[in-house]
Amino acid sequence: MAQKAVPRQAVEKIAADFGCSYDEALNAYLKADNAFDETLESFLKSKSKVAGAPVPVLTPRQIKEHLDKYVIGQEDYKKRLAIAASYHFALVRAKQENEQFLQGFAVNRFRKKNTLIAGPSGSGKTYCVEVLGDLLRVPVHIVDATDYTEAGYVGKNAEDMIREVIGMAPGDSKRERAEFINRNGALIFVDEIDKKAKEGNLIGIDVSREGFQRAVLKLIERKMVTIEDPNSPAGQIQEMVEQQRGGADTGKKKSMINTENILFILGGSFQRPHDPMEGIVKKRLDSKTGRVKEDGSLTISGFMLEEPSGASKKEIYRNYYKDANEDDYIRFGLIPELVGRAPIKTYVNALSKNDLVRIMTQTEDSILNQYKLEFKLFGIDVSFTPDAVEEVAERAEKKKTGARALVSEWETVLTDFQYELPGTSFTSVTIDGKTCRKPQDEILRLLEKSPFLDYVGRFKMDYGLTLKFTDEAVKYAEDYAAAHNLQVSEALNKLLAGAPALNYMHQTGDFTITPEMLSNEKYFDKLYVEWHKKQMEQDGEK
Ligand code: ADP
Repeated sequence: MAQKAVPRQAVEKIAADFGCSYDEALNAYLKADNAFDETLESFLKSKSKVAGAPVPVLTPRQIKEHLDKYVIGQEDYKKRLAIAASYHFALVRAKQENEQFLQGFAVNRFRKKNTLIAGPSGSGKTYCVEVLGDLLRVPVHIVDATDYTEAGYVGKNAEDMIREVIGMAPGDSKRERAEFINRNGALIFVDEIDKKAKEGNLIGIDVSREGFQRAVLKLIERKMVTIEDPNSPAGQIQEMVEQQRGGADTGKKKSMINTENILFILGGSFQRPHDPMEGIVKKRLDSKTGRVKEDGSLTISGFMLEEPSGASKKEIYRNYYKDANEDDYIRFGLIPELVGRAPIKTYVNALSKNDLVRIMTQTEDSILNQYKLEFKLFGIDVSFTPDAVEEVAERAEKKKTGARALVSEWETVLTDFQYELPGTSFTSVTIDGKTCRKPQDEILRLLEKSPFLDYVGRFKMDYGLTLKFTDEAVKYAEDYAAAHNLQVSEALNKLLAGAPALNYMHQTGDFTITPEMLSNEKYFDKLYVEWHKKQMEQDGEK
């Protein structure tokens, strides 16, 4: 077995730093040292492995065509994202494989196509990157800026996102994974970057938000980041081992990753109650100014914007994100250097009802297909009529949360269907506009259950009482539902909102519901008050 020289000093320092015995420290040292040898070996091996299977270069058009299959609208964003990704990864490849080609150009420091994307929530900013990630054969990491703090604070810091992306690369060890990224690149989407904007009057918070932006600023061009978290025991031991090896420089380089090959997309809705991006842009355009300085002051640059005729009408549909420039981002609270290092700026539009219909019917990853799959798991073919799709799109549009509202709207419609139908003899069901408007009534009709019996059953489960509706009461409730455009079950919930009071009046057995009880919304309240009074009197007599 080969002898190994172990520097006593290093082991003693580990023992002191970690408060462990000399033997434990020695063990840790040897393990780290072994790991170092192994990773060196795998690092050398991985060179040939990665080179043998190069990540293919995609053209902007190929990328955009892929995005088009999934993402409706948002042409500017899709195009710019496609260009940024295509050229970035083509360059990373060229740097690896074709140094001669690069030497032919006097470009030493390539300017990265880091991108800033702004626009309303739920309109595809993150989704586009997810879809892109399916196509690229490099790690694509989507992070939320609010999960990170400035270095020195408790919590994850910006450099951790680099270590996280390493974890997503192929390879048997961290070093091998880092090497994969050094050779092929990676993409990090930092979502909610707007939540790290300075807001002027929040001094303490502002310092840390700005600190985070500065940390990202360092990363998005080029920075060497240690593969191991320098504060972790593994990181510290690794550091010592490398120092002891003498070749601090060579050792260091191998345990570090250069962020140069990582493309950054910074995204956010840039919405907030005070001074949102749309307001900032509108104000600038309205005051017909040129530049907004860093301190927020305006400089009139002398040009006049043409006022379109009927401007006020057109303004309603205007997407101000489209016109956001560097100064607007700075004014919002991003630091100028960060805005400068993300030279590509793009936007998404708020989704219209038409867009939402297309999202449901024309994309490859449609939510309707998912429901079809879910029902089929229980042997049921579900189909959706065009007016059902329109109905849901219309409701979702009103929610103003983009395509996210589609899921919650469909859930509202389909909950009872997804609960009731599995396990029955149904093998198909059609969801039409009427079903979307009155899902509870429809499922009850389908199951040939009367909404009254359903209500009675639920009331019995909740409160132990059996309600009996007179014929007149049934008619009253049905007429009420029709007149108020409600489902019968909804009408019953409303008209009998006070009925649970029966449960508190020591009532047992059956209870008959008459139209009088339904037409007087205070009926059960009064009943309860009277009952209570009587109780008091009886108690008094005792
Ligand atoms: P944000 O713009 O806030 O990042 P997301 O991209 O996360 O919003 O969108 C939420 C969900 O809505 C996505 O997962 C996707 O299913 C759907 N979606 C949003 N925009 C689109 C779009 N333009 N085309 C297709 N689906 C979309």
